[in-house]
This record gives sequence, C-alpha cells and structure tokens, in this order.
Amino acid sequence: MDELIKRTHSAALQKQFIPQLSSYDFQFSDDYLREDEYMPIPNLIHRYESKALIIATNQCACYCQFCTRQRITRKDDNSPDNFKNILNYIRKHSEIMDVLITGGDPFILSTRKIINLLKEIEKINSVKIIRIGTRIPVTLPQRINEELIGALKTVNHLYINIHVNHPDELTSESKNAILSLANAGIPLGSQSVLLKGINDDYDVLKKLFLQLIQLKVKPYYLYQCDKVHGCENFMVDIRKGISMINKLCNQISGFAVPKFVVDTPEMGKMVLAPGSIVKTDGDIFYLSNRNGLCSYKNIK
Ligand code: SF4
Repeated sequence: MDELIKRTHSAALQKQFIPQLSSYDFQFSDDYLREDEYMPIPNLIHRYESKALIIATNQCACYCQFCTRQRITRKDDNSPDNFKNILNYIRKHSEIMDVLITGGDPFILSTRKIINLLKEIEKINSVKIIRIGTRIPVTLPQRINEELIGALKTVNHLYINIHVNHPDELTSESKNAILSLANAGIPLGSQSVLLKGINDDYDVLKKLFLQLIQLKVKPYYLYQCDKVHGCENFMVDIRKGISMINKLCNQISGFAVPKFVVDTPEMGKMVLAPGSIVKTDGDIFYLSNRNGLCSYKNIK
C-alpha cells in the first residue's frame, strides 16, 4: 500500500491509511458496538442467535484509520494459536447457521491455517454459510495466489466479502486478484464504509459500484462509519448517504447498489436505504422514485 500511495498520490488512499492524529478530537469509545460483551470465549463474538463471528487474527496487511476493531488490531498479537475452543463452541451451539471469519484480516494467516479452520467449520452440519471478510484483495493482492485460490475452491458454501472503499483501490493487481477469486467460482460481495472526504461523493460511489459489478462482485453493504475512537473526522451526515444511495437506485442497475446500513449497539444492523417511503399518514404511504411521488393505500 505504501508503494501504491507513492505511485498514485491518491488522496483517498492517504486519508485512509496515514494517521493524522493532530487533527483528532477524540469523543468516541473503543468498542462502540459493545462486541466485547458478547464474547463467550476469546476471539468469538456471538451476538445474534444464528450468527457467530470469529476473530481469526488481529493482523492486517494495512491498518485503516477508521477501523471498527482498532481495539483489537492495535494490540499485541492475541490471535488464537488454534481454533479448538472456538470450533467446540460452534459445534455445541446448533442455532449458529452463519459463521463470519474476520479479524484483522483472515488471509494474513497461512493457507494451511485458514483452510484447516474452514474445513472444520464445513463439517459442522448446522452451519449453512461460511463467510470471510477481507481487505487483502485490495491491500495485498499478491496474497491471492494459486495455492490459496485452489484451496478455497474446495470449501463448500463459502462466500467472500471484500472491503473496498474507493475506485483508486481497484488497481490492475487488485482487479486480477478479485477476478481470480470470481473465476474460481467463489461468490463475492463487497462492503464499503462511507468516509468523509474519501468516498462521500455520488460520482465516486457510482464508479466504485459499477467497477465492482464488472469484477463479478455484488456491492452488498455501504456502512455508516461506526462511532469508534479515532473515527471522529470520518463521519458523514447520514442524510447524505441515504440521498446518494436512493439516487443511485434511480440511475444505475439496482443490482449494482448496496444497502446503506448503520450498525447500532442496541439493535444491530439497520437498513437506511434504498427506500422509497417518504412519509406515512395512517394507511397512506407516500412513495418516491425517479418518476416522482405517489401515494399507496395499504389494504389489510
Ligand atoms: S483491514 Fe479491516 S480489520 Fe484491518 S484495519 Fe482495515 S478495517 Fe480494520
């Protein structure tokens, strides 16, 4: 990434990865989403009944200044040596259907370690979806090598969600890495964080999502930045995000538009847009789209 920043002089990359501590007025806490309260055993978050999140490592290829898990990625290495306790927990909790492996960045681990973990999860009958959240296809695309892809191909019901925020991250190297994963038949989605001065711009988001679609990546979530210590200067007015996503829905294929969501400590993820309800009056719903406004009477 250092090399890429020097090569491109991209302001969007500099702002994401180069600390500018002097300009911060810290107000937010380390664990805004109170994830630590839902950790029954180290490195496993079980907040929602059917979902578990494994913190497979606290290391990343690059460290994002707006990271929601800075309390983990900026500490000494406390990554699990092995995943025995985590796997036992998931085996005992048959309500868990969806396992997300995150970190840090799981692809920092050796191929052997990550594949062993995936294969053990795959054997648990109650688990129907295994997801990996990673930023490595854009921050260290060389890591997406043949050995890794060959091993990932053998894992059933695996989905990969790529964290990408700006079109400048989609270099020829990262595009090749992403296409190699897609062409290996691994379903890909993306998640992005809405960041002030980086991607809080309609044209930037439009370009990003259209490029992702062409790389066979379904834009999945655009996140409102979490109110985590260090993210104070990245916050964008939520109304701007809603307006941009609703406008995108009217201008480009709906398939290329992610959901704009905010994560809340109390209720988890809430979808903010797309949405067409402008207001309600009893059973009358006022809806808008590119053609204008109309009312719809709800019949119960
Ligand atoms: S790659 Fe992900 S986990 Fe690592 S610093 Fe960035 S946002 Fe945080």
